[in-house]
Amino acid sequence: MKPRWLNLLLIATLGLTACSEAPPQVHRAKLFTLGTLVDVSVLHQDEAVAQQAVTIVETELATINRQWHAWHDSPLTLINQQLAQGETVTIDSATHHFIQQAQTLATNSDQLFNPTIGSLVEQWGFHSDERPDGAPPAKERIDAALKQAPSMANITLTATTLTSNNPAVQFDFGAFGKGYAIDRAVEQLKRAGIKNAIVNAGGDLRAIGSKGGRPWRIGVRHPTEAGVIASIEIDGDESIFTSGNYERFFDFDGRRYHHIIDPRNGYPANDAISVTVIHHNAATADAAATALFIAGTTQWPQIAKQMGIDEVMLIGNDLTIYMTRKMAQRIRLEIDDAQIKIIGNET
Ligand code: AMP
Ligand code: MG
Repeated sequence: MKPRWLNLLLIATLGLTACSEAPPQVHRAKLFTLGTLVDVSVLHQDEAVAQQAVTIVETELATINRQWHAWHDSPLTLINQQLAQGETVTIDSATHHFIQQAQTLATNSDQLFNPTIGSLVEQWGFHSDERPDGAPPAKERIDAALKQAPSMANITLTATTLTSNNPAVQFDFGAFGKGYAIDRAVEQLKRAGIKNAIVNAGGDLRAIGSKGGRPWRIGVRHPTEAGVIASIEIDGDESIFTSGNYERFFDFDGRRYHHIIDPRNGYPANDAISVTVIHHNAATADAAATALFIAGTTQWPQIAKQMGIDEVMLIGNDLTIYMTRKMAQRIRLEIDDAQIKIIGNET
């Protein structure tokens, strides 16, 4: 048995070590990938470790961006060509995992999150690095695309193959890929021993740990004005994603057409202007924000329930703010005179 004085000495030494360590610093880096500016914050004492963490994030996001790019030549555009020709696509386990997760989310959203409507998104002009500047597509073209009714239900997956029984399936993972990439980056950070970090891709983010013992504080952009409409504190491991009609759009003949397409009618969904979702998993939060945006002011509670989402804020065209009770309990609105409706999370 150790003498008591040795225990005391050990405790004193440990105390000294803890005191002499430099407090962790926030290291920030900006990267351009996933079509947006990505802000990475890592909290660590050691600058070299933080730098290494940023490189890990950069590599992971760039790899997924290259793999799943919907309009630059990519493995995804190759898959789309093969599916259009009715071919069986050979896939690896990462692709299997990616498509399987998207398929589950599509099913749970009643196919409102429908990553097979790439042809429609392209018709609307959003398969471009530039803002579309023409007229909206003719109604006949939209109706023809709708008639083909592509959905994730057309897809059959095995561990090594992917097939579609509908040649109109054209994948576009713009509503989900960013979340998936952030999840992968955060997994890699955790594996590298990072406990406190944020990966923020243009306001959509996942945060782990805290900012030196204080929660991370996140602003949610106001959908119609400069500045933030609300702020949320995160302490632990959570993702916040927002889908809004202000992100990608064009104006024609005095009307605005944006990039979130309602697969039921082929037109930009017009019953909400933004939706913010909090969920542990970033890919789920990403797909859900898009699906709930399309679901709109009356259907979002049902779709949220089906997708297992507890924390939602939806802003309607008249700026009414709809929230679940759980969201209302933690969000801090930064505006006055808001009209608020609390729906769901019955107590
Ligand atoms: P987000 O900003 O996450 O809501 O994603 C919007 C992007 O997802 C668009 O730019 C399209 O690439 C794609 N998209 C549009 N409509 C849908 C839809 N109904 N389901 C899945 N992806 C969609
Ligand atoms: Mg999304």
